[in-house]
Amino acid sequence: MHELLKQNQDIWGLFTRKEEYSPRKLDERGRFFFDGKNLVNTSDPEASRYLINRGMQVEFPENKTFAVCLTHDVDDVYPPLSHSLLSSVHCLKNLDFRDFTAQLLWKLRGKEYSPYLNLSKIMDLEAGYGAKSSFYFIATEADPIRFRYDIEDIESHLKEVLDRGWEVGLHGGYYSYNNLEALKKEKKRLETVLGKAVQGFRNHYLRFKTPDSWEILADAGFRYDSTFGYHDCAGFRNGMCHPFKPYNLNTGKEIDILEIPLIVMDVALFAESKSFGEAWERTKKLIDITASLNGVITLLWHNFVFGCNFRDDWVRLYEKVLQYCSERGAWMTSGEEIYRWWGDGA
Ligand SMILES: [Zn+2]
Repeated sequence: MHELLKQNQDIWGLFTRKEEYSPRKLDERGRFFFDGKNLVNTSDPEASRYLINRGMQVEFPENKTFAVCLTHDVDDVYPPLSHSLLSSVHCLKNLDFRDFTAQLLWKLRGKEYSPYLNLSKIMDLEAGYGAKSSFYFIATEADPIRFRYDIEDIESHLKEVLDRGWEVGLHGGYYSYNNLEALKKEKKRLETVLGKAVQGFRNHYLRFKTPDSWEILADAGFRYDSTFGYHDCAGFRNGMCHPFKPYNLNTGKEIDILEIPLIVMDVALFAESKSFGEAWERTKKLIDITASLNGVITLLWHNFVFGCNFRDDWVRLYEKVLQYCSERGAWMTSGEEIYRWWGDGA
């Protein structure tokens, strides 16, 4: 794949994200600042199209023609106060007093009643469409905003995810994306709770340093990453709508990890869309273009969205995607299954 891409310098520059190696500007969270975005068409998987036009063949199980990789970053399992207040206001507006009580008083009943311990509900929804997904959990104590949760306290929930055949991966700490020791420690902590190896990764706030984060993740023993996407809009960050092995321009070598690029994150999509209709049109366009190239479109919907009523529209959009893609015959599955199918041959 790399040899073919190298034959076109523009495509190679896009694929490797050469401009991210020495960023002129970083945003407030230390991420690459995409000020040249008006020059790159974020809706165009140019590198993938180039590969398909030159004979790259892609197959999926059961002769499916494209795949949807469904993922959830579990940032919170207990609603922060700001969310509880928003939910309560929403209930009052709608005169829904039962949900009002549930949203505000769950703590009195016990931690187990948290509306954000909603993994079963999400899995049930996906199972209804023959789909599976990945859940990425936080295993660091260092967070710039607040304490999140201890994975040891929610062991039974993690086990349920595994038992049903969904994936548990690591949601790397805010400060960990460029820290090998921190990532190893978090991976080990999660593996101790699970009793099995962790394959998949995505960093909190999509913090990522090209190409160093890939190298560190490979060294820490992750098999795939799915951080590589835009944090402020939907689209293809390096023109790819297929999983790929990244290439390090500094060492002149392929990196031993599979990148399953992130294409649509709930927060970013709704931040750039003025309405539900616009968000759906944008998503549909990205699905259609991915399908036309036998690609894999990765979605990130945070679990909290499914436990708070003030994000009803976001849930509605997720369901619409599941409906649309199941009608189109997509393979809808977790990052781990995509990795297993794609293997090391990318
Ligand atoms: Zn996060």
